Amino acid sequence: PAEPELEALQHADVARLLPVPGAESDKYRRGVVGIAAGSARYPGAAVLAVAGALRGGAGAVRYAGPAGRDVIARFPETLVSDRGPKHAGRVQAWVVGPGAGDDAGPVAEVLAADVPVLIDADGLRLADASAVRARSAPTLLTPHAGEAAALLGVEREEVEAGRLAAARELAGRYGATVLLKGSTTLVAGPKDGDGTAVRVNPTGTSWLATAGSGDVLSGLAGSLLAAGLPARDAGSAAAYLHGLAGRRAADGAPVGAHDVAEAIPGAWRDVL
Ligand code: AMP
Ligand code: MG
Repeated sequence: PAEPELEALQHADVARLLPVPGAESDKYRRGVVGIAAGSARYPGAAVLAVAGALRGGAGAVRYAGPAGRDVIARFPETLVSDRGPKHAGRVQAWVVGPGAGDDAGPVAEVLAADVPVLIDADGLRLADASAVRARSAPTLLTPHAGEAAALLGVEREEVEAGRLAAARELAGRYGATVLLKGSTTLVAGPKDGDGTAVRVNPTGTSWLATAGSGDVLSGLAGSLLAAGLPARDAGSAAAYLHGLAGRRAADGAPVGAHDVAEAIPGAWRDVL
């Protein structure tokens, strides 16, 4: 029989992926996640990405960007610096792009680092595809349909009509793992098509269609990358938890993205 093209994420699989600290753990071994996000215009994206990252299993969150004051005011446990990612010190995985505006500098700096990188939002537009392809550490791209369409040079409707093909095409072009967001989120690896199924997240809720929701997801997935999960697993587990957190937070009523971030610990408890 032919290999299935799609594989629904299962509770038990996600439970196995989530990093749980042991007696030998310390904050560095748990992983340090770097967040290069936000701008004078969109400081909230930095706050929301950090909010997601703090609930993702890394031992520390480092923020490198112009919104450090806003981040610290909300999350005093964050290590902040207003110099670029290059000068941020030790980081095991980077998240770049949410609310970043037009500054391509941080994107180029994190792509040059030999650690896993998650690229979202503005960062997707600013990332040079050949620089992504040239990386030896994993890269995870997290576009929604509109961002995926822009990267592929097609209309959004075309992506919506063929989400599986679009995710695979992007993964192939960038040599990266692609998490294509939407009502059903897909996670496609760079070598898919050779018998590896694309993963589908079943936990989403349309209450997640709210501003800043994707920023929370990017921080959460980045934290799992920093904890040592492969890109495909980090993206899958993050999408699964984010969906559960959205359901918990919303419970049938509208919520803001920060509510979703606050519901992530409950989602972990549901999974573990
Ligand atoms: P962004 O557009 O970057 O803010 O990301 C939106 C987030 O909400 C992603 O995690 C999407 O998967 C999720 N989302 C958006 N619309 C829906 C929907 N109709 N059903 C379920 N999840 C959604
Ligand atoms: Mg977004």
